Amino acid sequence: MDKLLNDLLAIVGPAGVLVGDDVSQRSVDWFTGAPCQAKAIIRPRSTEQLSRVMAACYQADQPVVTHGGMTGIVHGGVANPDELVVSLELMNHIEEIDAVGSTIDVQAGVTLQRVQEAAEEIGMQFPLDLGARGSCTIGGNIATNAGGIRVIRYGMMRQQVLGLEAVLSDGTVVSSLNKMLKNNAGYDLKQLFIGSEGTLGIVTRAVLRLQPHMPSEQTALVAVPSFDALTQLLKLASRELANSLSAFEALWNNHYRLMTTQSGKHAPVLADDSPFYAIIETLGLDEAQDAEHFSLVLQQALEAGLITDAVLASSHAQRHAIWAIREDIEVLVHALKPMFSYDVSLPIPNMAAYVEGLESRLKAQWPDASKLVVFGHLGDGNLHIMITVRDDSPESRRQVEQLVYSPLKAFGGSISAEHGIGLEKKAYLSVSRTPAEIALMQRLKAALDPKGLLNPGKVITLE
Ligand code: FAD
Repeated sequence: MDKLLNDLLAIVGPAGVLVGDDVSQRSVDWFTGAPCQAKAIIRPRSTEQLSRVMAACYQADQPVVTHGGMTGIVHGGVANPDELVVSLELMNHIEEIDAVGSTIDVQAGVTLQRVQEAAEEIGMQFPLDLGARGSCTIGGNIATNAGGIRVIRYGMMRQQVLGLEAVLSDGTVVSSLNKMLKNNAGYDLKQLFIGSEGTLGIVTRAVLRLQPHMPSEQTALVAVPSFDALTQLLKLASRELANSLSAFEALWNNHYRLMTTQSGKHAPVLADDSPFYAIIETLGLDEAQDAEHFSLVLQQALEAGLITDAVLASSHAQRHAIWAIREDIEVLVHALKPMFSYDVSLPIPNMAAYVEGLESRLKAQWPDASKLVVFGHLGDGNLHIMITVRDDSPESRRQVEQLVYSPLKAFGGSISAEHGIGLEKKAYLSVSRTPAEIALMQRLKAALDPKGLLNPGKVITLE
């Protein structure tokens, strides 16, 4: 074991250092299961330990990659054999929960689901929600500025964070554990770490905002005859359901059909011949009143020709069955293997033209092999696009990326809606950011991490 590892062992103890098979048996890619190649995984138990670990790494010019729950899907956690991984998995305590101040203080390694459950136990809710809730961590959610299914109502992770603590590459601890909604005392430093994918500092603790619990949940799956009807339906739902609308998820026919009839894994809730489907959900306070209003709005949509059929969930099991069609990504991974996955955002009126153009260019290049599946958080202008050309060679990947990303600038879209840049989208950052924006990112990186030791090579390259 080299000197640095011995020094780190003295700081975190034997249970805090993993080497050999304990490293390679872990995966750095949720889709492929590719093994971790780092020379060791360091598992601090406190901010103080992590600060000492980082100070030692800084002295030794040792690059470090941070791991949370490893559900990120842009290769942000990939580590090469010269790099160390810092995992926050042992920093997983809920430190305080305050029903009056509506806050929860957590260590960064706690999972999203545990925070949701802790909030429920005191009659409140933590509204960030996504399919990986059982594994992803609050530190990872902050580092990626995660979105998910309730952004339309509660915003992204950024809107849930009141304060945080981070350790910089040289071991400096920046404790900014603000609990108040208002605090304009100088720069809002937490924003530097939210969405910077572990390239500016390692998030160790956070103060999160809780929201009142909403006991009434109304969920429907509807069949929609056209993209125009889908956008009109979103408009109607936003107006008529106003502040209670908490999710509006769109499924293209290719997604719904694959998840239900073609895979045989999920029973079709509606017939599979509609061009589009939407999952609409509201959260409210009065079950009887909300249910009546919700079905009236769906009736209105039916009469206006915006939907052709609908199923309202009348039990928790039915709601679960509807959401499983949207969230069971493993069915897609299996059916489209080898699969390329994309997460883009676009102004909603441009989405149909973008998807049609993409599909026809894929068909022109791979007439028999290509298959495209589209779904997403329509209310947030966010599409998830899964593509297979039955060949995952680097050249095919590059060609598909070009088809997906290059039209986005003209449509006013972004190469990353919510998953971040990581390694995967780094080459395309200039599609969505100007040279001046990228230059400022590089200046921030150089100021906070002058040796370029934190998540090296991810998001941007230091000149
Ligand atoms: P990791 O994967 O461990 O890390 C992600 C990045 O953050 C890496 O760059 C890592 O270095 C960095 N990082 C992790 N922890 C820290 C820390 N403490 N300090 C600094 N940097 C850190 N994402 C969405 O936004 N919306 C969705 O709806 C959504 N659905 C998903 C569904 C499934 C089935 C899966 C597998 C993923 C989904 N994701 C979604 C992606 C993923 O869950 C999120 O990006 C999540 O926020 C990552 O959290 P994590 O703890 O797993 O982070």
